[in-house]
Amino acid sequence: MSCKVLVKGVAVWQGDGFSGAVDLLIDEGRIARMGKGLSDPSAVEIRAEDWLALPGLVDLHAHLGEPGHEERESLDTGLAAAAWGGFTHVVAMPDTQPPVDTESAVQYLKERASRIRGARLLICAALTKERSGMELAELAHLAAAGACALGDAAPVEDPALMRRALQYASMLELPVFAQAADARLSGGGVAHEGSAGHWLGLPGIPASAEWIAVARELLLAEETGGRVHLQGVSTGRSVQLIREAKRRGVRVTAEVGFYHLLLDDEALADYDTRKKLMPPLRPRADGEALLEGVLDGTVDCIVTDHTPCTPEEKDAEFDVAPFGAAGLEVALPALYSRLVATGKVSWAALIEALSARPRRIAGLGEARIAEGAPCDLTLFAPGESGSVDPSRWRSKARNTPLAGERLYGRVKGIAVGRRLCGPCFEELEEVAG
Ligand SMILES: [Zn+2]
Repeated sequence: MSCKVLVKGVAVWQGDGFSGAVDLLIDEGRIARMGKGLSDPSAVEIRAEDWLALPGLVDLHAHLGEPGHEERESLDTGLAAAAWGGFTHVVAMPDTQPPVDTESAVQYLKERASRIRGARLLICAALTKERSGMELAELAHLAAAGACALGDAAPVEDPALMRRALQYASMLELPVFAQAADARLSGGGVAHEGSAGHWLGLPGIPASAEWIAVARELLLAEETGGRVHLQGVSTGRSVQLIREAKRRGVRVTAEVGFYHLLLDDEALADYDTRKKLMPPLRPRADGEALLEGVLDGTVDCIVTDHTPCTPEEKDAEFDVAPFGAAGLEVALPALYSRLVATGKVSWAALIEALSARPRRIAGLGEARIAEGAPCDLTLFAPGESGSVDPSRWRSKARNTPLAGERLYGRVKGIAVGRRLCGPCFEELEEVAG
């Protein structure tokens, strides 16, 4: 829906802190006016006292199912889930069936998404044909079709291919999204190789599977001058390697999945397959190092790595269940409750990791909440609380290890361009009939 909306009494993020309560008049995809005591009889009013307006959040890593895995998620449900989770933009991974490895596949998804009410879709197109890791895809065509990144959402084994990919991608001014894992070392494992996994009798994934991949991509990026974005960073040692590389001027950015900041491998004691993630949950010390990395900017952003699975898929022995957890609709309240409300992370640091830095990596402009600026904001009510209930999600998925947890903060909606979505706008439509 697109109509004139007056958001009353919201505290607005201003780069270094929140303003006092102000009113925002949203019209034609812009913040037409911002100030105290605004009124406009032609606008629909939303009471937003005690709410926060954050610059539009961006998730750089989600699996949205379509095409080919619509039993897990579709673009309709995935983009709605992103919006209801507070994200104005979401980057879809290319591991669909068929994979997103051609210009026409990128164009098709963009066209489809333009008609869906939800977050705006950005696309990470496949780096190699069929995501086979054998031959580079037509990278220039994928860039021309509007892909914002290139990556297979799987480890690329061949170092020569990765090296060439970094050279090409740097000419196209696009980042290569590289999965920080060596499949030959992680193959067959289902949990972190360490005391917890050992004690539980689960086949291990050694931390070195990640270190080796991280070190390789850093060295290749350094040599080629290409831009590499490391996905799935989960160990303290990786953070250290990235920190050193950044000091040397390597063009590297990195992300961590939010579950890795909140859970560790001891949580696997109940063999709950919803906690079976790739990379696996690591020991607590790694989570602490990752958080430190987020705070000092070594780890640029926090992602959901939203991985929808059907209940049938997850209802299996730990060894055989698929990896991954859904996260679009729980990430912001979880991060707020566990990290911001507890004083471990400031709002400024969280906004850097969920908005400012991912926007730069995806090639989006800064999201300013100011009079005259285009709309790109997230409305969040930190004072509301509730239990995580995936049966009420927009996503088709239910697989979150946080189901039933009591969390603070509720996403109220997003406004991006003319798109207004989320619970507060839904209620408004009901009122308007
Ligand atoms: Zn993923």
